[in-house]
This record gives sequence, C-alpha cells and structure tokens, in this order.
Amino acid sequence: MRNIVVVGCGGSGAVIARKIAEELDQPVRIVERRSHIAGNMYDERDEHGFLVQKYGPHHFYTNDYRIFHFFEQYGEFFAHYYKSRNQIDGRYVTMPFNFFTVQEMLSREAGG
Ligand SMILES: Cc1cc2nc3c(=O)[nH]c(=O)nc-3n(C[C@H](O)[C@H](O)[C@H](O)COP(=O)(O)OP(=O)(O)OC[C@H]3O[C@@H](n4cnc5c(N)ncnc54)[C@H](O)[C@@H]3O)c2cc1C
Repeated sequence: MRNIVVVGCGGSGAVIARKIAEELDQPVRIVERRSHIAGNMYDERDEHGFLVQKYGPHHFYTNDYRIFHFFEQYGEFFAHYYKSRNQIDGRYVTMPFNFFTVQEMLSREAGG
C-alpha cells in the first residue's frame, strides 16, 4: 500500500487517479485548489439554465473511438459541427493552425 497523491483534478489528474485506483487497486488522494473538478474543461449551468463553459469553449476531438468510449462513461457529450475560419491579411485560413493553413498561406505567397 502506497500513499499516492494526484495534484490537480482536470482531465489529466482525473484520468490518472482513476487508472491508479482501478488498475493498480491503490487508494488515491486528489488535491484540487479550485472548488470543482474538470479543470479548464469545467462547465456549469447559469441562472437561466444554460450550460456555460466557465474557462472558454471546449471541443472534444479524436479519431480514436477507444478514447471517446473511455470519456463518454463519465460525461455527456453533444455532437456538433462547426467551422472555424480566421482572417490573415484579408484572406481566410484554416484554424487551429495545421498543414492546410501552411498550404493556404504558401499559395497566397505564390499568388494562388
Ligand atoms: C479557452 C480554452 C479552450 C480550450 N479548448 C480546447 C479544446 O477545444 N479541446 C481540447 O482538447 N483542449 C482545449 N483546451 C485545452 C484544455 O483545457 C486542456 O487540454 C485540458 O483542460 C488540460 O487538462 P489538464 O488536466 O492537463 O489541465 P487543467 O484542465 O488545467 O487542470 C489542471 C487542474 O489542476 C489544478 N491545479 C493546478 N495546480 C495545482 C496545485 N498546485 N494544487 C492544486 N490544484 C492545482 C487546477 O486548478 C486545475 O483544476 C482549451 C484550453 C483553454 C484555456
């Protein structure tokens, strides 16, 4: 029996603590300085009943269903579709920044 302490109960700490408890069968103490779990992914209902993402909007992306199935055991997910475009020098480019963004910017440099 060991004394295991996980500091922080965001997604990382929560998953690590659960894995230790379930797979190693060890008791775990979690220390969290905020008044809630879930770290920056935390959301709460406002006075009108709307779900508000307190620290900014979060989207769950993965192409690995094992990861999604793991998380969906512990929370409710809402499927959505969104398209995010940002303007650089008056031209729309893909964000978050990825290889498409680079191609778009290079094609602009080349006059494309
Ligand atoms: C505005 C915004 C939008 C984002 N959007 C996305 C997104 O769409 N998709 C995505 O995958 N990621 C997104 N992220 C990143 C996402 O928030 C992080 O990847 C995720 O929350 C990281 O989880 P974590 O557990 O590592 O850290 P955190 O969520 O930061 O959790 C860390 C926890 O540890 C606690 N803590 C820290 N130090 C101590 C201490 N000394 N003692 C006690 N407690 C402590 C903190 O209070 C916090 O609760 C976004 C981040 C922000 C800020």
